[in-house]
Amino acid sequence: MACDAAAVASAVRAAASVITEHRDELVRLDQAIGDGDHGENMKRGFGFVVAALDAAVPDTPAGVFKLVATTLISKVGGAAGPLYGTAFLRASAAVGTSAVLTPDLVAAALRAALEGVVARGKAEVGDKTMVDALSPAADAASGDTVAAVLSAAADAAESGAESTVPLVARKGRASYLGERSAGHLDPGARSTSLLLRSFADSTG
Ligand code: ADP
Ligand code: MG
Repeated sequence: MACDAAAVASAVRAAASVITEHRDELVRLDQAIGDGDHGENMKRGFGFVVAALDAAVPDTPAGVFKLVATTLISKVGGAAGPLYGTAFLRASAAVGTSAVLTPDLVAAALRAALEGVVARGKAEVGDKTMVDALSPAADAASGDTVAAVLSAAADAAESGAESTVPLVARKGRASYLGERSAGHLDPGARSTSLLLRSFADSTG
């Protein structure tokens, strides 16, 4: 399946459904070490993204990513909205005007997304944030097909998210808990792994 704008839009719609299905889980994770809003923030944000796609599908993959970015930045409060917004904005710039995503472009988009999140949030691997999922995903993103690249990235993101459980948070709201943040999965790392698995499933 060619990864054109329509396919990317379908993948984003599927990701929105996955986020909705996991809304309560993300709320529970954020209740444990944050303020409990992550699942609702993400569900609402992707709901606005689907509404925007219902109105008009952009004609390039970059346009779809940019629509996701601007919607999340303008509609989602909390830390994650602007961080995911920046990730999709950088991904949009990385894929340029190409009509179809290639494996190399997808890998470049993931690398750019990570760089955007790090530039904005200043978190490093080990700080117990979405960076712990996205960084290994960007490192693992290679393969002969878009589906293979995303599947490798999703596998790495899942392991990376799991690796946040014992960590003490050093960024975001969870860092206010200090040592008490240990023993819990980071909600943003979990949502990143959910998004990447969904994108992999959509293209596979
Ligand atoms: P808030 O923390 O403002 O309530 P959310 O609950 O929506 O926002 O998102 C929390 C998630 O955001 C965390 O689980 C973490 O993964 C991510 N996060 C918070 N601060 C940072 C940061 N500085 N860099 C990267 N990710 C961060
Ligand atoms: Mg929160």
